[in-house]
Amino acid sequence: MRPKDSPRPKPAPPASLRRRTGIVKDPRYAEHCMGPGEPECPERLDVLYPLLDEPELADAVTIITPRPAKNAELETVHAARYIRRLEATAGGTPTYLDEDTRTAPGSHDAALLAAGGLCRAIKAVHTGQVDNAFAWVRPPGHHAERAASGGFCLYNNIAIGTRFAQNRLKLARILVVDFDLHHGNGTQHCFEDDPSVLFFSTHRAFTYPHTGRVKEIGKGPGRGFTINTPLLSGAGDGDFLALFERLLRPVAMAFKPDLVLVSAGFDIHTQDPLGGMRVTPDGFAAMTRILMEVADACCQGRLVLALEGGYDLDALRASVREVLREMTGRRRTDIRPMLAAADQKRVDYICWRVSEAHRKYWPCLNGQPVPTVRARLKGMLARWAAYFKS
Ligand SMILES: [Zn+2]
Repeated sequence: MRPKDSPRPKPAPPASLRRRTGIVKDPRYAEHCMGPGEPECPERLDVLYPLLDEPELADAVTIITPRPAKNAELETVHAARYIRRLEATAGGTPTYLDEDTRTAPGSHDAALLAAGGLCRAIKAVHTGQVDNAFAWVRPPGHHAERAASGGFCLYNNIAIGTRFAQNRLKLARILVVDFDLHHGNGTQHCFEDDPSVLFFSTHRAFTYPHTGRVKEIGKGPGRGFTINTPLLSGAGDGDFLALFERLLRPVAMAFKPDLVLVSAGFDIHTQDPLGGMRVTPDGFAAMTRILMEVADACCQGRLVLALEGGYDLDALRASVREVLREMTGRRRTDIRPMLAAADQKRVDYICWRVSEAHRKYWPCLNGQPVPTVRARLKGMLARWAAYFKS
């Protein structure tokens, strides 16, 4: 019997809110292995697979088998000479492409399956085979530039998926949200002059890859369609949610995307060894809730996540589990308590800086509270301190 003063268990959401979620899964992703002790390792997917056997989730997911990305799909994002360079590593001896990124004999095939797997997931959502999808792929992609690898990334999966959705599925406007700890430099550079792709990124300032400043707002006709919200270390659930609620949601609703794609990085989890942020599994679920609401309002719920970072295996599994429960309608997170716990002064400062840079392009951002001179000075000093510490 439940004691009178214990909290009442939360009722499960009604069955009518349940959704079918596609999961991209393939053992060949394990063939990409950069060597012992590397944080971006095959075990990152191994720890996720048992989630698919949990009774609550087993009935809710559909496995999507990936296909290799085609050369023409790669060339929508990458230079031909770069593709040839990566192809040449297939089956060969391990090669360092840059200081962080190393290939194994099976890396190139895994990279093709990562990009192609995301394309399959997008197509499955577009055709209605599933309601939304999460591509559990490796290697990650958002640091890959047109002609350069970087930060564990070979091909830029999310950028290739974006062009696939536009070229093959004729979806005009794509919202790309990137909540990885690290700025998605490759994704930004791919789309910075393109107003058909809105790129919104939260990331840690003054760390790899040292891009993603507020004033990077896009170029030419793409001005206003790159929105960077760099955060200092220590940001938690409430801070990320506040940025999603006060900046991402209004801009996304004005942009009206035909598809929402997400570079889902779990290295902002409080336990992550590369991190410095304080997001919890409930925080990831709440961010997913906002993304689902935007997708529901704009594009019949078409939402596809692609795995990027996340290097503490327990934290990664726990976080992905809650994201998956949210996507499948097994939980429905009330974001209000977490929003209320945000560091309001810190959030006001970054929202004000971003709205100053973007209000010309997004009138919906007018009306953000203007921090006092003292708060602005404090915010500036904190940024300088973080810069010199980095
Ligand atoms: Zn990362």
